[in-house]
Amino acid sequence: MHANKEKIESLTRELLQALGEDPNREGLRGTPRRVADALSFLTSGYRADPVKLINGAIFTQETNSMVIVKDIELYSLCEHHMLPFFGRCHIGYIPSGRVFGLSKLARLVDMYARRLQLQERLTEQISRSVMESIDAKGVGVMIEARHLCMMMRGVEKQNSVMVTSSVLGTFRDSVATREEFLALIGSRVA
Ligand SMILES: [Zn+2]
Repeated sequence: MHANKEKIESLTRELLQALGEDPNREGLRGTPRRVADALSFLTSGYRADPVKLINGAIFTQETNSMVIVKDIELYSLCEHHMLPFFGRCHIGYIPSGRVFGLSKLARLVDMYARRLQLQERLTEQISRSVMESIDAKGVGVMIEARHLCMMMRGVEKQNSVMVTSSVLGTFRDSVATREEFLALIGSRVA
């Protein structure tokens, strides 16, 4: 499933006209192509294969300690306005014999973020994917993000950060595990 760049280019030309612009003026001549390239990249998560992405990056390790990866940069597009939301993702999990290579968690976040998303769904997709791919005992994911569709349009509080979390397995069942996760990611939100 490739993004149809030619179609996106012609639609962008129409969009510019509908906005009252002249798509032939010098500054806009290359815009449809650039928009097509950018949108294709920003939605490349639809066309990524999670199995391929994760394979080869899972290692055997006998540990029952919580693994935390903090402050993974996150850029996505809200599906309601196709405008960016961006922030940080924190992931914690308790392995049962298998752990992730460090950079792979960031790639996993990118794969789900590079789609039209809702922050809530993105958070859940990441936690479920981590849980399933290493059969973890428990997973916690928290995303803190700012939404340009709110900030630029002056809706609600301009600087508010939306926080979503998804907990599975022991993170859901045990208050102590959840508290350890929150303490380790240093969240100000309890
Ligand atoms: Zn939005």
